[in-house]
Amino acid sequence: MKIIIATNNQGKVREFKQMLEPLGYEPMSLKDAGIDIEVVEDGETFAENAHIKAQAVYEICHCPVLADDSGLEIDFLGGAPGIYSARYAGEDATDKDRCDKILSELEGVDISLRTARFACALYCIIDDETEYSVLGTFSGFIGTEPRGDNGFGYDPIFMVDEETSVAMLSDEEKNKISHRAEAMKKLAEVLRANV
Ligand code: IMP
Repeated sequence: MKIIIATNNQGKVREFKQMLEPLGYEPMSLKDAGIDIEVVEDGETFAENAHIKAQAVYEICHCPVLADDSGLEIDFLGGAPGIYSARYAGEDATDKDRCDKILSELEGVDISLRTARFACALYCIIDDETEYSVLGTFSGFIGTEPRGDNGFGYDPIFMVDEETSVAMLSDEEKNKISHRAEAMKKLAEVLRANV
């Protein structure tokens, strides 16, 4: 069964292919499906934004769709940057700008108060009657300086232990423990039960 992944990020499409093909689904990107839309993500949670994206694509194709939304929540900042993770330092800012902004906001804050988590919401619409929403999380804390060159986004400042940032892990190691991996595992379970 074909399933459209509501993203133009080829890396995400590749990850979703690995998970969905063994379940009998054939994931396609928006581009492969010939769909070109800009969705306004004005939800208040990751789950709402994933739902908004999935619904917008489903209304065009009326076929199975999977959408995701993810970001970083820092306890000391009241959950920020949260759903604003991608634009936290402004529209044209880089990953480094966003990491630097967070490091300066947490300057002098004790390690015990630097707890944080990545979250990934997945929303899957199979047909008019069948929809699934799952959330995966990945807990750690914010370091005091960027470390490592792998990964993307906030990985260099997100620590899994006192020495190791996510950007120091290989893709393979990260993909075993990440928020996206946990969400995908939960979705695979519900889809398997549905096949
Ligand atoms: P989106 O789900 O592609 O909209 O991602 C939102 C933002 O959250 C990204 O631009 C990153 O800044 C951040 N983010 C999401 N997942 C990760 C991750 O695995 N590592 C680092 N940053 C992430």
